[in-house]
Parts: sequence; C-alpha cells; structure tokens
Amino acid sequence: MDIPETVNGGRPTITGGLLKSKYVAEGLHFHWGSPTTRGSEHIISRRQYDVEMHIVHRNIRYATVSEAAQYSDGLAVLGIMFKIANYPSKFYPGLSRVFAQIPNVIEYDSTAQVSGSITLGQLLGDLNTADFFTYKGSLTVPDCHEAVTWTVFPHALPLPYEFVSTFWNMRDSNGDVLTDTFRLTQPRNNRAVVYRTTKDLSNIFLG
Ligand SMILES: [Zn+2]
Repeated sequence: MDIPETVNGGRPTITGGLLKSKYVAEGLHFHWGSPTTRGSEHIISRRQYDVEMHIVHRNIRYATVSEAAQYSDGLAVLGIMFKIANYPSKFYPGLSRVFAQIPNVIEYDSTAQVSGSITLGQLLGDLNTADFFTYKGSLTVPDCHEAVTWTVFPHALPLPYEFVSTFWNMRDSNGDVLTDTFRLTQPRNNRAVVYRTTKDLSNIFLG
C-alpha cells in the first residue's frame, strides 16, 4: 500500500531510537503464511506470528526508496505482528479499513483504494510503542540490501480469522495461490539487537 501525503500536504515521519535522521513513511506491506503455517519474518521469544506488517520509511536525505536502499542508513522499517483471534476483543478502525480492501486485491496486479483518511498512528492499533526491538539489518526481499534500521514491536495485535485467511487466497501472476511470503530467519551474525522496554526483562529470550 502506498502512503500518500497527509491532508496538510506533508508526509508522516518517524525519528528516535537508533534513527539519526528523519524518515518519511512511503508504504506498507504484509508477510503471511498459509492455513498450516505462520508468516511473520521475525521470531520473538521463539514464536512466529500469523502476519507481519512492515511500514517502510525513507531517510529524507535520499530522494527515493531505491536510492535509499543503497545506503546503510537509507531505510527504517517498523515491524508489527498480528495473531489470529477468533473472537477479537478489540477493533482497530484504521487497520480494519486497510484489511477490508484486501479481498479486492487478490488477483495479480489489481488495485483498491482505502477511502477517507487514516493516521499513521491508527495503523499501529493500540500497540505499546514504548516496547520494541531495534537493530541494523537488511531488506527481506532480493537483493536484501543492508539498508534497514529495524524497529520491531513484540506485542502482537489480535486480528479476526477472516482477515488473516484472506491473505491465503492471494494469487500470483500465474494465477497460483501465493502463500508463505516470508524470508526465513537469518543468523544474527553478532549484530547488536537492542530491546527497549518499560517492563521487567526476566521473561525475555532472544531467538
Ligand atoms: Zn517486508
């Protein structure tokens, strides 16, 4: 999903954490599994989640996402986990409008529009943004440029089964079912992974 300009003509930005610059929100996308697999790209405390959303931001120093991908400080991605909840106790108005359009983009190359306005904050539901992992890593699609400062929120948002199962019907350019759209986890290779939290750490395992 492309993220357009805000109603004021600007673009939503993020900064802070490991980010030394301002990063402009460019777009978001999802990774998912199948009826028998989970699809998140990050595994947190040994758990893989059903769906992971990535909100991709470009460092304002660079003109485009593809230019930014050439630099180690080029991109910042927020990773948000979702887990299937058969009887979700929460309803997220912004996110629900995004998910409601997914049945309209099942066919390859089809497009849909989310009407009205959504704040970037609404896309985070009621996520506790004070708790996150952050590290310097790469894109998870070829060429996997080492250009991403990751910010990964470990608390999954509940999502109705109907929303998650819609992903499993997606079709590729051959009309075949498109499932398991995640990269397998990679070795940490001694890179530092920082966990920022307001909570007691005694139950946290890195994996
Ligand atoms: Zn992604």
